[in-house]
Amino acid sequence: MKRAFVIGHPIAHSRSPLIHGHWITAHGIDGSYEAIDVAPAELGAFIARVRSGEFVGGNVTIPHKEAVFALADSRDDLAEEIGAANTLVTRADGIFAFNTDYLGFLGNLDQNAPGWDKGLDHVVVLGAGGSARAILVALKSRDVPVIHLLNRTVDKAQNLAFDLGGRIECGPLREFRTVAPGAGLVVNCTSIGMHGSSFEGIDLTLLPKSAVVTDIVYVPLETPLLAAARAAGLRTVDGLGMLLHQAVPGFEAWFGVRPEVTPELRRLIEATL
Ligand code: NAP
Repeated sequence: MKRAFVIGHPIAHSRSPLIHGHWITAHGIDGSYEAIDVAPAELGAFIARVRSGEFVGGNVTIPHKEAVFALADSRDDLAEEIGAANTLVTRADGIFAFNTDYLGFLGNLDQNAPGWDKGLDHVVVLGAGGSARAILVALKSRDVPVIHLLNRTVDKAQNLAFDLGGRIECGPLREFRTVAPGAGLVVNCTSIGMHGSSFEGIDLTLLPKSAVVTDIVYVPLETPLLAAARAAGLRTVDGLGMLLHQAVPGFEAWFGVRPEVTPELRRLIEATL
């Protein structure tokens, strides 16, 4: 039986076992996918188990994404650019690491806001934490001309922009009112929106009517930012799709079948939020 995993600390909240379990059943695969709580001090020992062939691979979440990137034996180019990995595959020559967050982000927008990347002038990214890295690399891969990266801590945004290169212009969140006119896309990758928190001073009515607003926070599914965007008549894309789409490449690598993000799967996960 092929065994896969998701590791994190904590891990009990993860929806990944439900997603992969659904696909394992749907495709009649002799496999398993289990959530394993691995504390930082135990990560080296766990990676040794993976290297020994106990698992076909697995997913990695907070706080291990940077550490597994360093511990893996080889990495794909995008993981190298992002500096973090969320998916591991056990191969004959060792552990291969890649990053599917950027694929999940793009797959979600492509499925739910087709054409979002056509004729863009500039986009606005809110937040400069771990997930912002993958999202900035994803946006750069679609040749977005200018990215305005706004963050509470401007220094962190500047460091990220410096690391990644290209036209990323940084500022504080209050600069939204200056950069909103003409923006084709707004991405929230701060944790604002979780647990009932909401932005202050982000006026979405300043955006053009054609703009798309997407949030990577998916609990609640409709964050206050998305609710405000919907009220302003803008296209919205929630963060659950990113979670579902980022799971596809890992499943395909471990079990040899490319699974689909179907409405049925979405309903299954939505019911747990
Ligand atoms: P992170 O590295 O901890 O970064 C958090 C970001 O939020 C930073 O930019 C931080 O600003 C900002 N922030 C937090 N509290 C704030 C506040 N009160 N006011 C203003 N800014 C605030 O987190 P992450 O890994 O990037 O994840 C961010 C969110 O995305 C989480 O909710 C996570 O669950 C979600 N996520 C979803 C998916 C998905 O598949 N849909 C994937 C990854 C992550 P400072 O730099 O100033 O601290």
